[in-house]
Amino acid sequence: MSQRRFARSLAIRHLVCGSCNGCELEMNALAAPQYDISQEGWSIVASPRHADLITVTGPMTEAMRLAARRTLEATAEPVVVVAVGDCASGEGTWCGAGSAGAGAGQELKASIVVRGCPPTPDALREGLRAAATLLDERNS
Ligand code: SF4
Repeated sequence: MSQRRFARSLAIRHLVCGSCNGCELEMNALAAPQYDISQEGWSIVASPRHADLITVTGPMTEAMRLAARRTLEATAEPVVVVAVGDCASGEGTWCGAGSAGAGAGQELKASIVVRGCPPTPDALREGLRAAATLLDERNS
């Protein structure tokens, strides 16, 4: 019973890999009263060791590449990576510019992609719900 009740709770570790912070502003809105993700049992955590899921923004900068890989390695399986925004999906304005990579979600092999520049909070919530369902499937 308790397993079913808490099955959809999510501990989310967020990684900023060269974002302009537009995506972060929309993610912050998820914690505001209008969306209040805590009512879904979701929380943002500071350590990958506590996380079920990694959200990632930005095209992936050189400076973040190693840290992002280490964060993913430190997260217990099964873990789901969600690419947030066009940059992370590999289709953004900054992808391939200067030292920017091909998309942080591409590089970390994201299972869920939430498109938009930036994506709306509603789209983000749907993406996180899809990630929770995927985690359920991987846990069963
Ligand atoms: S997708 Fe748009 S809002 Fe998000 S980091 Fe890229 S440029 Fe900024």
